[in-house]
Amino acid sequence: MASTQSAPKSLRIAVIGAGMAGILAATRLLEAGKHKFVVYEKADRVGGTWRENTYPGLTCDVPAHAYTYSFAPNPEWSSYLSPGAEIQRYFESVAEKYALDKFMKFGQEVTRCEWKNGRWELETAKGLKDTADVVIAATGVLHHPSTPDIPGLDTFAGACFHSAQWDHSVALDGKRVGIIGSGSTGVQIVSALAGRASKVIHIQRTPQWIMPTPNDPYTEEQKAAFRANPALIDEIRYSEAYTSAVRRFTEAIVDPDSPQMREIEAIVQKNLEDSVKDPVLREKLRPNYRAACKRLIYSSDYYQKVQRPDVEVAIGGIKQIEPNGVRMADGSLQEVDVLVLATGFHADRFVRPMRLIGRDGTDIDAQWSPTPSAYLGISVPGFPNFFMINGPTGPVGNFSLIDIAERQWGYIEHLLAALESGEARSVELKEETLRAYDERRIAAARKTIFGSGCNSWYLDATGVPASWPWSYDAFAEQTAKPRDEDYVCAA
Ligand code: NAP
Repeated sequence: MASTQSAPKSLRIAVIGAGMAGILAATRLLEAGKHKFVVYEKADRVGGTWRENTYPGLTCDVPAHAYTYSFAPNPEWSSYLSPGAEIQRYFESVAEKYALDKFMKFGQEVTRCEWKNGRWELETAKGLKDTADVVIAATGVLHHPSTPDIPGLDTFAGACFHSAQWDHSVALDGKRVGIIGSGSTGVQIVSALAGRASKVIHIQRTPQWIMPTPNDPYTEEQKAAFRANPALIDEIRYSEAYTSAVRRFTEAIVDPDSPQMREIEAIVQKNLEDSVKDPVLREKLRPNYRAACKRLIYSSDYYQKVQRPDVEVAIGGIKQIEPNGVRMADGSLQEVDVLVLATGFHADRFVRPMRLIGRDGTDIDAQWSPTPSAYLGISVPGFPNFFMINGPTGPVGNFSLIDIAERQWGYIEHLLAALESGEARSVELKEETLRAYDERRIAAARKTIFGSGCNSWYLDATGVPASWPWSYDAFAEQTAKPRDEDYVCAA
């Protein structure tokens, strides 16, 4: 950053959220010898999305060794794709290893954060007040469950809950379970409950393309080898097979007419044709939009499970929910004892419902009306010394969000260094930087596969895909280091 020298400064930093990104920030601060920070977490333990989601079948569809901090490899992953409970334990173990507890304020939801007199003033739901030079918002992307507005939902006689609020007190064995929603979550739940419930009914408004993926367990010998030689873990994490797949995938997203996209389409189409024998079921499961328009689903067993006699696929709209089940638009009643709403999340709520007030009283709600945006998913004009990890318009897709978060953290570290060196008391993104970024971003986003004519959580309120619309490499390049011309530094 541009230099106007004054005394070095030890910053007080408030991190909001103790999920994957908050733990990342905390560990990186400690590793850099910075101890003047606090992590506010509304729940009673770390974990974020992996703490909240506990549904049967929960699995990360990114290879386990890639969905791992680069600085905390884990030789113990049980399989190529790790189950959710194991991921939660992993985050807890990293927090333990770095003794993060003493920096954590659990049960403290930050409800207000305001830039006043050159500092951030924070307040929690319990009335705790604090001030900080810098705020790092690590508040997650898919955090607020979306409950569908289906008539009669409250008349259902059995247990009914959202996938992210799983009620483990409800017995499922031998029950008829209806699952509404065919995203990654619904597909994983259906696969897990098939054979356990007496009947599984997968209610799909829109079918999804399914990418076949292996999910082999790691043997004890393999784990021992990983323990003895962490380079073997890196060989998986940075393998040509994985990194080139991510690169090809992001190139395909950016250019729907590319050979890379044709390759994805060919794989998922073949998967459907080869895997589903019954032509009627096959047509029920065939999407009428392009592969990867919605976030691609990776599954090793969904098509197998859905062909079981005790699994049924119900397509078309839902007319209403009745005490005994789900009345479909065609008049048929899907009778169920338990109803699971795998209906996704409010993907545009970044940071909120916290009241976030920036310089000159700018409210983030106004700034983000009609849709949220942040430069590289990190910075917003009007909000000095406020940086996000996995904020709006960052890359979200079929790759490791941990890697994205680590890149953003590397970028944020440069901004912190400018503040610590005394070069600046505050750094703030320029309005014209975000304006130019958004112009380019929106034009590019419309051309991505996400904008090719389907409905998904990628789309913002104006119908524009909100995810990073350029290549993975472009993100890596642009987050390598902040450019002086993008920020205003106030001494
Ligand atoms: P989602 O992808 O947003 O899917 C929501 C589903 O609910 C869609 O099938 C949607 O149908 C359906 N739905 C919503 N409202 C409905 C209504 N009123 N009537 C009927 N159907 C309705 O949500 P998700 O499956 O929870 O996944 C969200 C994201 O979480 C994923 O894309 C992924 O990024 C992440 N995730 C990741 C993993 C992983 O393995 N890494 C696992 C789970 C989730 P329409 O398609 O017709 O709108």
